[in-house]
Amino acid sequence: MARACEFCGKPLNGRALRWCSDRCRKRFCRQEAARARPATAEEPHGDLYEAYLRELVDRDVIHTPEAMSVLRLCEMIESKNTPASAIAALDKHLQESVRALRATSPDESDPVAAIRAAAARKRLEWAQDELSPRRLSRPKIVDDP
Ligand SMILES: [Zn+2]
Repeated sequence: MARACEFCGKPLNGRALRWCSDRCRKRFCRQEAARARPATAEEPHGDLYEAYLRELVDRDVIHTPEAMSVLRLCEMIESKNTPASAIAALDKHLQESVRALRATSPDESDPVAAIRAAAARKRLEWAQDELSPRRLSRPKIVDDP
């Protein structure tokens, strides 16, 4: 039986599991995220929230707790119930959270970011290897550089 794209309903072919295209996958995730955190009449989501929502979906991290916390911060910053005196601290927290997320999830459309992220992962692997018991217990060879 033919399966259908969960976003547009087009029949799926080949290896596609849930969506016919990357575009449909992102749209579906965005829609799902919007459903999970609906904007209310008195507190509609603002540009900040929408912009980060798009980025988190594009980076494929929308289902992580970190992403939820980013969106929550956006809501708080944009909420008219948040005292103006709290905005600066919330914004700082938001920037830090976003930076952490960006560092671990490269935007595939940005080749430089993807290379940086790959290098960061490699360094992390090396660091973990350096600290691994296997390596630490290895006998020291005299001409080891
Ligand atoms: Zn589709």
